[in-house]
Amino acid sequence: MSIEKTLSIIKPDAVRKNVIGQILTKFEGGGLKVVAVKMKQLTQTEAEAFYAEHKERGFFGDLVRFMISGPVVVSVLMGDDAILKNRQLMGATDPKKAEAGTIRADFAESIDENAVHGSDSQVAATREIAFFFDTTEIIP
Ligand code: ATP
Ligand code: MG
Repeated sequence: MSIEKTLSIIKPDAVRKNVIGQILTKFEGGGLKVVAVKMKQLTQTEAEAFYAEHKERGFFGDLVRFMISGPVVVSVLMGDDAILKNRQLMGATDPKKAEAGTIRADFAESIDENAVHGSDSQVAATREIAFFFDTTEIIP
């Protein structure tokens, strides 16, 4: 095991449902520490840049529209194997397939509005953390 940092986004659907605290509690209960956090309204340009890897996919326009439909909460989570651990706590992309007790099983409605984003690799985590935070804002 190694200590890692990963980026989480609590998406607009979960912010609207008023479950920011319950989601952060899942991270903490799973052994991850919140070492940076802020609420933010993404611009269209930011959302398109953040999800650039998906720009050829049919759902890209809807994904960007959804991600700018209200504020999000971005955070950096730190801990042993944080990248994989966060993905496990999130559950499958499609909440109907997500294991019971995961964030998406508990708080998400559909594959388009699925409550959370989490970095899926070390390379992605490094890029995504730098996308939202200066190093001075991360306080382990
Ligand atoms: P995220 O990147 O948000 O953490 P993920 O890694 O589980 O989710 P990706 O394959 O990276 O899933 O897709 C990014 C996002 O695009 C998903 O969270 C979902 O909101 C949306 N998405 C993915 N696949 C579909 C699909 N088939 N139809 C509609 N939206 C989709
Ligand atoms: Mg992804």
